[in-house]
Amino acid sequence: MSKLRGRFAPSPSGRMHLGNLFSGLLAWLSVRSAGGTMVLRMEDLDPDRCREEYARQLADDLRWLGLDWDEGYQVGGPNGPYSQSERTELYAGAFRKLEEMGLVYPCFCTRAERLAASAPHRSDGQIIYSGRCKHLTEKEKQELSANRCPAWRLTVDNKEISFTDKLQGEYRENLQEDCGDFIIRRSDGVYAYQLAVVYDDGAMEINQVVRGRDLLDSTPRQIYLHTLLGFRPPEFCHVPLLLAPDGRRLSKRERDLDMGALRQRFTPEALTGLLAFWAGQLDRPEPVRPAELAKRFDWAKVPGGDITIDPQCL
Ligand code: GLU
Repeated sequence: MSKLRGRFAPSPSGRMHLGNLFSGLLAWLSVRSAGGTMVLRMEDLDPDRCREEYARQLADDLRWLGLDWDEGYQVGGPNGPYSQSERTELYAGAFRKLEEMGLVYPCFCTRAERLAASAPHRSDGQIIYSGRCKHLTEKEKQELSANRCPAWRLTVDNKEISFTDKLQGEYRENLQEDCGDFIIRRSDGVYAYQLAVVYDDGAMEINQVVRGRDLLDSTPRQIYLHTLLGFRPPEFCHVPLLLAPDGRRLSKRERDLDMGALRQRFTPEALTGLLAFWAGQLDRPEPVRPAELAKRFDWAKVPGGDITIDPQCL
């Protein structure tokens, strides 16, 4: 593999929580232990949820822990801008390319219609789009456009996409059967996460993506998009999720486990030690600096399954 280029790509829609930090630390350790380049990209596409003050806070929280980055938010670099809200023109170019390939069509379905017309749900509850708007005539499209702004969908292939995740192993999906044509631009004009993340990872020459296991099932869609846009897909490492002591997934609503609360309770070294213990890098939680850990970071020790936080650790 050429020089490792990894990234952390958080969405600044609130204060970071322990789970985000866990993924960020692992992405950073992987890059630093290999002498690679770390990129910090703000995924602030959604104007309703993301705020600049959260992005600033996020960068501050990362630095507090002892993490740094060579390119990205507040630092700059040759592949900027590094906030997705400033990259709309670039996504428009990628969107046009897919349109020219004849793979994009407008979808006028409301959520209720999508649910009603969808094929059976996947086991995880995601609905599979039926393709209802794919065969609209020009006249029908014009009529529907008068009342509603469409979302835009990408046609998928009836072909299996498989890849080997560094932690989760072999994963495969037939996009047509397991997902259906998916949205790459929302009806409010905002480009969808799937398109933006792929365009950015490709254009920023990211060759390793480390992120939470909740995004594993987005990966076949992303590999498909990488290929269509002429990029080579990166290596993927989907790290375990941290579960709250009662077994629920951590979320931004878990205020007692967000960075504001954690910074009051822990030193950066103590918090890093805890995360490193969960990541299989230490036998017990003991204070350590991320830079120390990078010297002995070992992917083989990172567990694949989700980790329930022991309340006694906190
Ligand atoms: N922005 C996404 C999030 O914060 C992560 C995207 C990714 O790592 O691919 O959940």
